Amino acid sequence: MNVKSVLKEKNFIFKKSLGQNFLTDETLLGSVVDRAGVNENSTVLEIGVGAGTLTSEIAKRCKKVYGFEVDTNLKPVLEKTLGEYQNAQIIFKDVMKVTMSEIEDMLGSEYILVANLPYYITTPIIMRFIEEAKNCKAIVITIQKEVAERIVAKEKTADYGSITVSINAVADSEIIEYIGREKFYPSPNVDSAVVKITLNKDKFKINDLQAFRTLVKNSFAMRRKTLVNNLMKGYGYSREKCEELLTSISVPVTARGEELSVEQFVELSNLI
Ligand code: SAM
Repeated sequence: MNVKSVLKEKNFIFKKSLGQNFLTDETLLGSVVDRAGVNENSTVLEIGVGAGTLTSEIAKRCKKVYGFEVDTNLKPVLEKTLGEYQNAQIIFKDVMKVTMSEIEDMLGSEYILVANLPYYITTPIIMRFIEEAKNCKAIVITIQKEVAERIVAKEKTADYGSITVSINAVADSEIIEYIGREKFYPSPNVDSAVVKITLNKDKFKINDLQAFRTLVKNSFAMRRKTLVNNLMKGYGYSREKCEELLTSISVPVTARGEELSVEQFVELSNLI
């Protein structure tokens, strides 16, 4: 189906404020959905349905797809683009105003989250599903390329930070596709990448998840300061105590947060 002509026919007005840059390349979208691991047994949650281009590629391959879309002006467009898919159910609501238990009760079973969202809500959405979701198997999300690179970054690089550690402590992440700005309609002024985050909550033995999150937040609070300085400020501990903590996990007392691997953050958190 030619989505651009459906949007024109329905006099759809794009809202920049909602990040309405749609992907229309069916081959590209189909390959993302395949690499997301969607198959005939999958339940999928899509956030930000737009004109339904990604939704229809999901619907072709899955058991059931539930999609959230905040803009009710897309209703007539979606009636046309998704009309033939009985397994696609669209919920016209702001996903930020729906609780995790409402979402997961509706889905009823394990699911894969697929989303291509406005840039300002991507990190909150990822962190919300990482921290609160019980039945989410994987998050496959199209985001600004620079944010994707921060998620998959290796330690001792400039991209490595609190988002990298928070996600990779409970999941494995990889970039599965790069999407240039010209692939979007209309084109935004940034390039994108698709990140696959596969939840793996038993990857490390974290004694207290809340304490781990606090440690990560404290460790990267002032990036240019040493870890000892950040820990002193965050916890109110003495310099000696912070140095002792780092020494006991074989980390130099002069190290900065970005020098510790995810595993070392887990070790440090369990120790604290
Ligand atoms: N999935 C489509 C695609 O790949 O072409 C559309 C992607 S477009 C970048 C993002 C969509 O998310 C827009 O249709 C926008 O209206 C919707 N959206 C923005 N904020 C939302 C929210 N808080 N809840 C649900 N949908 C939202």
